[in-house]
Amino acid sequence: MMTLATLTAPSAKPLLDWYDRHHRDLPWRVSPPMAKRGITAEPYHVWLSEVMLQQTTVPAVKPYFLNFLARWPTVGDLADAPNEDVMAAWAGLGYYARARNLKKCAEAVAREHGGVFPDTEEGLKALPGIGDYTAAAVAAIAFNRQASVMDGNIERVISRLYAISTPLPAAKPLMKQKVGALTPADRPGDFAQAMMDLGATICTPKRPACALCPFNGSCQALALHDPEHFPVKAAKKAKPVRKGAAFVAVTSDGDILLRRRIETGLLGGMTEVPTTGWTARVDGETSADAAPFAADWEPCGTVVHVFTHFELRLSIWRVAIPSALPSVDGWWEAVTNLHAQALPTVMKKAITSAIPLAFNHSKD
Ligand code: SF4
Repeated sequence: MMTLATLTAPSAKPLLDWYDRHHRDLPWRVSPPMAKRGITAEPYHVWLSEVMLQQTTVPAVKPYFLNFLARWPTVGDLADAPNEDVMAAWAGLGYYARARNLKKCAEAVAREHGGVFPDTEEGLKALPGIGDYTAAAVAAIAFNRQASVMDGNIERVISRLYAISTPLPAAKPLMKQKVGALTPADRPGDFAQAMMDLGATICTPKRPACALCPFNGSCQALALHDPEHFPVKAAKKAKPVRKGAAFVAVTSDGDILLRRRIETGLLGGMTEVPTTGWTARVDGETSADAAPFAADWEPCGTVVHVFTHFELRLSIWRVAIPSALPSVDGWWEAVTNLHAQALPTVMKKAITSAIPLAFNHSKD
């Protein structure tokens, strides 16, 4: 049985050998044989996929990635696209600041760099919306730079490999240092992707498949018989609750009142049904007094949606009126055309609460 005393020092070689045989085929990647011949992935594809993958799973991202590439095959095409089209194509992926920054970054690459992504971490980080993680991932995967890439999967693998007992997020600098020391000079992009794949398929949060793991001769957490103890996380605080109301007005012709949110702030630039502000008030329901026009509004439930920093409880109000009112703020859109609108998930939930089959009539 493996003990701490019999462990070998971790090295990239067994991981890369494993990756050559077991890598996931993903639409934004080149396969390891090509990478070994010096053929790297298209920077636009790597950047687009990495931005989409932040806080979002691979299966959820795949159709969005393919749709974006079909509509905007180059970064220049994305830079030239109307904002509303990009936001509508992003709708459903969440974390909409990413879509706004995606567009700004495409414009910066197209207009300030002649459509060519910078090939260093520093150069990439100077672009809008590109932080440490994305810069390292693009530099390593698209340009074979020896960057230390850290995402949730890699944090889990590295914390187990070295049995790092400092809780996250305080442990991040140490984890990054360990990843940097392990990253090989010749295949840094494959190494980063191999760590991601290992975390996603073998070193999973629950019941990791250590018997199949290329690191099982050097893993301290396995030698301690407690992989699931790592990564150690600081105790979570409960999310604050905010409340508000959303108003779904529908005409006899099947039109629904929509508005555009202001460009800045949460869900900026996205489409919504009229809502109140979302405040920290936690008592009672928000009343129909805040509706966009006076009518016989009826309550139809509460929608709960969890954002990164708070939980939102939206009281939903509904009214059916004979025809569109020209004097209200916003526009009247056919319910059958809702699929083409940049509606974030919380708004889709609000509309579905008032019109249960709204999105069944729509194309998606
Ligand atoms: S041996 Fe187990 S715990 Fe250690 S890195 Fe591999 S899968 Fe994760």
